[in-house]
Amino acid sequence: MQKEENRNAGILLNITGNGKGKTTSAFGITIRALGWGWKVGFLQFVKGSFETGEKRFFASLNHPSLLFEQVGAGLSWHPGNHKAMAEAGWKRAEALLQDDQMDLLVLDELNIALHYQWLDLDRVLEALKNRKTRQHVVVTGRYAPEKLLEVSDLVSEVHSLKHPYEKGIPAIRGIDF
Ligand code: ATP
Ligand code: MG
Repeated sequence: MQKEENRNAGILLNITGNGKGKTTSAFGITIRALGWGWKVGFLQFVKGSFETGEKRFFASLNHPSLLFEQVGAGLSWHPGNHKAMAEAGWKRAEALLQDDQMDLLVLDELNIALHYQWLDLDRVLEALKNRKTRQHVVVTGRYAPEKLLEVSDLVSEVHSLKHPYEKGIPAIRGIDF
């Protein structure tokens, strides 16, 4: 697909808050970007190797411009390993932030990894600041650190008014994963 080249500096977006819709919003932006022929990297922090609808869909799509990775998923899933997994994921993110070809980078649940201090905030801020100038970056997850919101260009907070979980209804396949 022909790539649409007529655009300026990249923006930093953060989708945070306690309501449902942060990661799904990032998928929506991904679809738009791919539609314009952009190259997109989608890194999922925190999630391990969990089987999801999106993972199945992207595997079946096999889109040449989409790189979808559950980062750190190769390391064993153990509470004590959160930091190692986040760090492995962040190394991957740093490489993609320096990739000229990457038009949009999604760092799903990065807010969580920062909130629990699995990653050093200053190191993350530095890498985001020094990224390729035309690259757009979307960060998602609850508990976004204030310092990250300060340097973001777009911040949306998704606020929960109701969630079926409160009625004891567990996560629903096709809706939640
Ligand atoms: P989604 O991936 O569906 O867009 P999200 O990224 O906004 O959700 P996360 O904080 O990443 O939400 O949480 C992931 C899971 O937690 C999802 O299955 C989601 O339905 C569930 N969840 C989101 N908000 C709430 C809530 N207010 N109460 C209970 N569970 C929630
Ligand atoms: Mg999410």
